[in-house]
Amino acid sequence: MLEASLLQWYAANGRDLPWRRTRDPYAILVSEVMLQQTQVERVIPRYRAWLERWPTAEALADASPADVIRAWQGLGYNRRGLNLHRAVRIVAERGWPDDLTELPGVGPYTAAAVACFAFGRDVLPVDTNVRRVQERTGYEFSADAGQALMDLGATICLARVPRCERCPLASKCPSRGRRYEPLRKQSRFEGSFRQRRARTLRLVAETARPLEQLDAEAVEALWRDELVRVADGVVSLPQ
Ligand code: SF4
Repeated sequence: MLEASLLQWYAANGRDLPWRRTRDPYAILVSEVMLQQTQVERVIPRYRAWLERWPTAEALADASPADVIRAWQGLGYNRRGLNLHRAVRIVAERGWPDDLTELPGVGPYTAAAVACFAFGRDVLPVDTNVRRVQERTGYEFSADAGQALMDLGATICLARVPRCERCPLASKCPSRGRRYEPLRKQSRFEGSFRQRRARTLRLVAETARPLEQLDAEAVEALWRDELVRVADGVVSLPQ
């Protein structure tokens, strides 16, 4: 059976990632939010530092938005940090909701990942890697195969040139040996508006600054996302 072969492969080849050693929903939510748009290698040290500083949902809930925004610097897509903070404030006050998508910044995938990896619910989180393996094999995997599918998609069943010769599913996979067109590249960060926003937020995170010293368009976008506030012509982090 395909799933048994996959799980056997995972037992020997699975990646040892820090968030796989816990079932704490808070820690898993932190990892999933960080992983939404940042690569695993970059997330690992940031995840460890985050949990050292704020080991529980209650500890993070007590932090100020300004501290959270500062701690998120360099991970990109800063709104994620702010939403994570809002989510754990809700959790600290009322506990974990049954429907995790009620939490700010938690979409269907992140909700499924926390439900499966922390609460042991029978729901398979389907990210890009998992979807790719599902589509290529045409097989319905169970929730038990979540982590294994992610690793197979990240290391063997790659987007363009899958390593079918090393794949534990090859003998039963109808897509074995195929090659795929390059995917659309992510737009360049260098010279983008995203970069201007990131630079502006970094300056404000260092210290409050007069609006006239900053990129006004970037400030406006950050203000709309509630990442900065503007009062009396001075831009600062929300307190
Ligand atoms: S045989 Fe190839 S295409 Fe099929 S799941 Fe394995 S790596 Fe992917």
